[in-house]
Amino acid sequence: MKSIAQIAAQLQGYDPQALSAAAVNDFLARLVEPVQQTEAVAIFDALDRVLAQDMVSPISVPPHDNSAMDGYAFDSAQLKPGAALALDVVGTALAGKAWHGTVGAGQCVKIMTGAIMPAGLDTVVPQEFTQAAGDSRIAIPPGLLRPGDNRRLKGEDLHEGMPALQCGDRLTPAACGLVASLGIASVPVVRKLRVAFFSTGDEILSVGDAPREGAVYDSNRYTVFGLLRRLGCEVIDLGVVRDEPALLEAAFRDAAARADAIITSGGVSVGEADYTKAMMKKLGDVAFWKIAMRPGRPMAVGRIGPAILFGLPGNPVAVMVTFLAFVRPALLRMMGCTADQPPLLKARSQETIRKKAGRTEYQRGRVTTAADGSLQVRTTGNQGSGVLSSMVQANGLIVLHHEQGNVAIDDEVDVMMFEGVI
Ligand code: AMP
Ligand code: MG
Repeated sequence: MKSIAQIAAQLQGYDPQALSAAAVNDFLARLVEPVQQTEAVAIFDALDRVLAQDMVSPISVPPHDNSAMDGYAFDSAQLKPGAALALDVVGTALAGKAWHGTVGAGQCVKIMTGAIMPAGLDTVVPQEFTQAAGDSRIAIPPGLLRPGDNRRLKGEDLHEGMPALQCGDRLTPAACGLVASLGIASVPVVRKLRVAFFSTGDEILSVGDAPREGAVYDSNRYTVFGLLRRLGCEVIDLGVVRDEPALLEAAFRDAAARADAIITSGGVSVGEADYTKAMMKKLGDVAFWKIAMRPGRPMAVGRIGPAILFGLPGNPVAVMVTFLAFVRPALLRMMGCTADQPPLLKARSQETIRKKAGRTEYQRGRVTTAADGSLQVRTTGNQGSGVLSSMVQANGLIVLHHEQGNVAIDDEVDVMMFEGVI
């Protein structure tokens, strides 16, 4: 386990006063480690969990060569270029009920989708391609089929003895189905990550408190809760903590004793007069950063006891953006997940966007499909770092990279989509 100073020493040009977004992720990747404990869960409980071991296929899927169509199975050696082929139907193979007879020259077997291919037959002519040629006799017009058509091969999905899923894979609906297709009932997964969070600030009211001059209701706990739940974390809500050293110390100690990671909001900006930063410093090994980004410049990162600390800024949109850009990939690593960043999507900007080179900007955007089928994006109004309503209207974040300058209409921009994430 490396200290903040040791990690900083490994990074070229590390400047806590002007850190690029890429450098933040690089730092966090060195700071966090996957949790080691695992457990076995039933497939229905495995959705969104992270696989703790490679899953080797104990069987081949499908287990036999079988038909991909309803039709007639025959030996393709009998196909002659330019000539129709007439065949006598000598039996029927059903899905789940194989046909075990022998098939001679000039013969075929009626076969249903999923039925095992009878021995010696390699090709299926779909029912609709055939013509009746008398009682129990069909004709296949010339030029329609190649050898092997409409036959699914044994093991074409999964081969016995090969890894079907890899350690670190997230168990998507498709992956859960794949596990079931192997006949396996329970899955080894990494234990759930426990994440504690609280909001700080004397001006922050909890839902249910009476309004007071100068005070605002806490929204950060609710956005953070939603973001963590979507990740599949176990969430520990520690409420709003007032700006008093004893209360802050108790909250941090409680969080560190119960959680793998602690997320706080507020109290980390430069001019803060409160005790949050002082308490982080007192209890942990913590770096205080200014990140070259917008929104969300200040952030505190480190360890308090065994827990990783993410001290996010207070502004509601800054909280969500720093979570998506930095905390989410770090938590995924802690969850043992090998894929930590979703792919960015490209869309044409429907407007000019002013952008200063030398920092990463995240604009709230709405991606839609243009008349020509291409993707286009426009920003969703007021981009102030406290304006949550424009975040609600957005379906993604337009990521304007560190070196990037102004965006002109029809320029292509990268978008981090919310779908499936938040
Ligand atoms: P800070 O980073 O503590 O200076 O907070 C920056 C801004 O975010 C201030 O306007 C705070 O009132 C606001 N803020 C801080 N925490 C929250 C919260 N939990 N919910 C809503 N707004 C907040
Ligand atoms: Mg504050």
